[in-house]
Amino acid sequence: MTPKFVGFDVLKAAVSMHQVLERYGLLDRLHRQGDNLNGPCPLHGGHNPTQFRVSLEKNCFNCFSCQIGGSIVDFVSHKERVGIRDAALLLQDWFKVQPKGSANGKLRVATPSHNANTQEANVPLTFTLRDLDWAHPYLKQRGLSAETLRTFGVGYCRNGLMAGRMVIPVHNAKGQLVAYAGRWPGEPPNPEPRYKLPKGFRKSLELFNLHRATQADARLPLVVVEGYFGCFHVWQAGHRRVVSLMGSMLSKAQEDLIVRTVGPGGKVILLFDEDEAGRKGRSEAFTRLDELLNVRVVSFAREGLQPDSVTPEQLLELIQQAGLRELATRHQEEEPCPA
Ligand SMILES: [Zn+2]
Repeated sequence: MTPKFVGFDVLKAAVSMHQVLERYGLLDRLHRQGDNLNGPCPLHGGHNPTQFRVSLEKNCFNCFSCQIGGSIVDFVSHKERVGIRDAALLLQDWFKVQPKGSANGKLRVATPSHNANTQEANVPLTFTLRDLDWAHPYLKQRGLSAETLRTFGVGYCRNGLMAGRMVIPVHNAKGQLVAYAGRWPGEPPNPEPRYKLPKGFRKSLELFNLHRATQADARLPLVVVEGYFGCFHVWQAGHRRVVSLMGSMLSKAQEDLIVRTVGPGGKVILLFDEDEAGRKGRSEAFTRLDELLNVRVVSFAREGLQPDSVTPEQLLELIQQAGLRELATRHQEEEPCPA
């Protein structure tokens, strides 16, 4: 059975950088200076005697050469070359940190997402829809280019379950087709839902466009949007590292997929719709992801705006500004650590 994950806050409070360095036998190489330890970097194997600094008071580290820094969890993650969740589990095991005492409601006791779900994965489809109409006026009206339609395989469906709808193929992280989302063109008549999904398909287990986003330049931040069309528009504007939640609430499985995709301290930009549901989803996603990743939020200037209601240039500018803000903030945050 998978051990219970006690949570990052509990671990960071329970284990010191000093203990971690001691366990690795690295204390001999470091020199004490006030509340800091200085020495050559044990992560990238440098020789400069001042590049690596540990703040015992703040319980964090930083290397000026390889630019890696963070908590005990980040240190073990880099040292062992594992994800932060695995690093946390290692620390938990080495230092026998128990979930006890974390039940004050404030500290989160997380469990791997598949334990919480009865269904572990969506089953890949055994068919593909044919004879889709790429030239339907609705698609043009929504501002989608021929290249976007071709890439995402979106088209109007005349027959079958999704007849009368725009179909959007949905793939899992491996790129296997797991569903078609059917969007009614325009406002649907009662009781037709705006979107139709196949029975049994759980969108909370997937991130739309993840298999393409992971092919894009990994140095770019991962942009997370709510809907399919927001995703199309960010992609079409030229930022290809983009995924959609297919809704406004980040699920546990989606959280795990994002963390796995960008890695510890990875860059994520939340670009949700500027409405009540969007702000709620964005704030909740920020709170959860910010614990593990470098998260920035884009908010639109006006109520009701969303990724497909601004020009591609404006969209790119919003993303780039969020990225720059991220660099500036990081710089400020990193300085106090080795002080
Ligand atoms: Zn280093």
